[in-house]
Amino acid sequence: MIPSIEKERNRITGTLLAYYFICKRKMWLHAKGLDLENITGNPDVIKGKILHETRFKRESYQNIDFDNVKIDFLKFGDQIYVHEIKKSKKFEEAHIWQLKYYIYVMQNRGVNCNTGVLHYPSSMKKVDVQLEEEDIKLIEQALQQIKIILDSPMPPERLDKKFCRKCAYFDFCFV
Ligand code: SF4
Repeated sequence: MIPSIEKERNRITGTLLAYYFICKRKMWLHAKGLDLENITGNPDVIKGKILHETRFKRESYQNIDFDNVKIDFLKFGDQIYVHEIKKSKKFEEAHIWQLKYYIYVMQNRGVNCNTGVLHYPSSMKKVDVQLEEEDIKLIEQALQQIKIILDSPMPPERLDKKFCRKCAYFDFCFV
C-alpha cells in the first residue's frame, strides 16, 4: 500500500467510502461533522437499527470495529467472510464498494479474506462480493480522491438527482 494511502485509510470509514460513490458533497458534509443521517428520529436510521437488531441477532461475531471501519458481522470458514446488512438495494453499487473496502482493510491487516456477502433482508436478497486485483487499484484511487476532496475548505457542488429528494441533506442543499 502507498504510505500516503495508509495514513488516509485510518480516517476513512466504510460509510465515507460508500458516500464517495453516491454523492461527494454528502461525503464532505458527513466527514466535517454535519451528520444529518443519524439525527434522532430519522425513520431510515430507525429501520436500519431494527433490521440489525432483529434479523441477525444470532450471529456470534457482530459489530467488529477496527481501523475506523465497523463490520456488521464476520463468519469463519476456509477464510473469514465479511457480512454487511443494508435496508435497501437503492445504492447497491456503493454498498458493494463499501464491502470491498472492508475486505481490503482486512487484507491489509494480514487476514485471509477476499469474499463477503451483502444482505438485503427487506427484499430477501443476498449479493456475493469478491475483492479482485483491479478493485484494489480503484479503492486506492478513491482514497486519494477522497483525501483531495476532504482537504478542500468547501464542499463539492450539489448533485441534482432524483434521489436528492430523499436525502437527509436535501434541505441543506436545496432550501
Ligand atoms: S441532497 Fe443531493 S447533492 Fe445534497 S448531499 Fe444529498 S445527494 Fe448530495
